[in-house]
Amino acid sequence: MDNENVSKNFIEQIIEKDIGEGRCRTVCTRFPPEPNGYLHIGHAKSILLNYGLAQKYHGKFNLRFDDTNPTKERSEFVEAIEEDIRWLGADWEDRLFFASDYFGQMYEAAVKLIRKGKAYVSDLTAEEIREYRGTLTVPGREDPFRERGVEENLALFEDMKNGVYGDGEKVLRARIDMASSNINMRDPVIYRVAHINHHRTGDTWCIYPMYDFAHPIEDAIEGITHSVCTLEFEDHRPLYDWVVRELEYEVPPKQIEFAKLYLTNVVTGKRYIRQLVEEGIVDGWDDPRLVSIAALRRRGFTPDSIRMFVELCGVAKANSSVDYAMLEYCIREDLKMKKPRMMAVLDPVKVIIDNYPEGQTEYLTVANNLENDALGSRAVPFSGELYIDREDFMEEPPKKYFRMYPGNEVRLMNAYFVTCHSFTKDESGRVTEIHCTYDPASRGGNSPDGRKVKGTIHWVSAAHAVRAEVRLYENIVDEEKGVYNEDGSLNLNPDSLTVLKNSMVEENLKNAQAYDSFQFVRQGFFCVDVKDTTPEHLVFNRIVSLKSSFKLPAGQPSAGPAV
Ligand code: ATP
Ligand code: MG
Repeated sequence: MDNENVSKNFIEQIIEKDIGEGRCRTVCTRFPPEPNGYLHIGHAKSILLNYGLAQKYHGKFNLRFDDTNPTKERSEFVEAIEEDIRWLGADWEDRLFFASDYFGQMYEAAVKLIRKGKAYVSDLTAEEIREYRGTLTVPGREDPFRERGVEENLALFEDMKNGVYGDGEKVLRARIDMASSNINMRDPVIYRVAHINHHRTGDTWCIYPMYDFAHPIEDAIEGITHSVCTLEFEDHRPLYDWVVRELEYEVPPKQIEFAKLYLTNVVTGKRYIRQLVEEGIVDGWDDPRLVSIAALRRRGFTPDSIRMFVELCGVAKANSSVDYAMLEYCIREDLKMKKPRMMAVLDPVKVIIDNYPEGQTEYLTVANNLENDALGSRAVPFSGELYIDREDFMEEPPKKYFRMYPGNEVRLMNAYFVTCHSFTKDESGRVTEIHCTYDPASRGGNSPDGRKVKGTIHWVSAAHAVRAEVRLYENIVDEEKGVYNEDGSLNLNPDSLTVLKNSMVEENLKNAQAYDSFQFVRQGFFCVDVKDTTPEHLVFNRIVSLKSSFKLPAGQPSAGPAV
């Protein structure tokens, strides 16, 4: 294998072989969500993989809603899913499809199988079918209705369609092999009676196709060449192949399975998320603590960061789990050069500079991003009354504490050297005001006599600062104790959300808009919350802190943009 081939994932290798051998001329992939919930980070992997393959081979990418099971599906989810996929940057152009649009063709396909003697109507109940099916070690028994004649089957199937039978009274089964070692091949049910209103077809149909029958037909109708799905469908592939073979499609689509993306200690299951939403533990499907795509977007993740993450994860044949820290690494990499570094004081305490001219304000020029000159600079107001973060002051500092304490000189970032002389406390012992003097000669943050200070702290001018709400997040579950309790319920982390109502951010953030994101120096990356921000009330979500425990695995190319 040449070098180029080594770096290709196994799906790309299959595709290139198929093109090379003339099995297909171009590539057509699809993303087939069931509209029964919101998409999450795992779906993003599938979307970007399918879309990426289509792009790489100059093929096509379809979006198809797999809406063949009307019990759990809703239009609300259709719209949310479209928005998420669009946001990720996957473009289905004019190829938006619904499996339900093919119900007529699926019905005809079933009739074709009946005519070929490859399908029959059974009167067995669901329970009887299960019993007859056997187990991994016990072969299945033949259905007593298996030898029904073609004409009788055709008539019965038509009656099923026409509403003659109640739910569960009759099913259509594929006639394959009850002795197969693969249970999926033991005459699987391919159509069932269900008198349910469908969100798109209404009451037109009272029979619905089963997934394993419907999916290959959907793929074939759309000319999908490579039907990429997750590993749990591996055992269903012989049935997929059987369906496309018996229906004699000219270019049969090929199913390829890859491993699902799991995040370690992160809740992704729809069932759990629905429960968190319904019990009001989180603020909807887009609560920033979740990993639905809507939640990641609201928290401040970018499509680029998710793309980088998915690429780093790679495409594998074996299930594995990825650390959330890798996702954090990707968003830091994406934002660190692109976003201005602003000053925000999350838990403010007032500092008064006793020797600063009363009533004076000066504007300091501050670079927006020291690593990226292209972002330019801004003017930041400085005055005699400031806020600093409460944790940047200590009355009695421990060793190696270099920030502000009585008698210690520190640098106010980009501004002046200041020395604390006194402070006041309230009855509870909480510091209320810190008094300092400043050295006017140290403007810009350097002293002309070469004096050094060890601590540099950030600040905002009290008169100019804008009050903001800041939300800090941790994992919704307590990782240390384990994600699930013994009874299967989630082990919730009581500290997953911290709300700071009185944070003070610099004046330049006054007009920040929903989804704008910034680095707050020393604190992390923050994004303006889309749901709760109003012109009078700014809300910032912390996307990620600045510190990382994540290391790129050896041998991985650096994922960051080359700047
Ligand atoms: P469920 O079966 O519980 O409804 P689902 O996650 O399988 O949920 P679908 O809407 O059927 O939901 O999934 C759409 C596509 O996304 C499928 O092709 C599926 O294989 C893929 N997919 C789902 N979860 C993951 C994951 N964790 N990693 C990668 N791909 C995934
Ligand atoms: Mg599914």
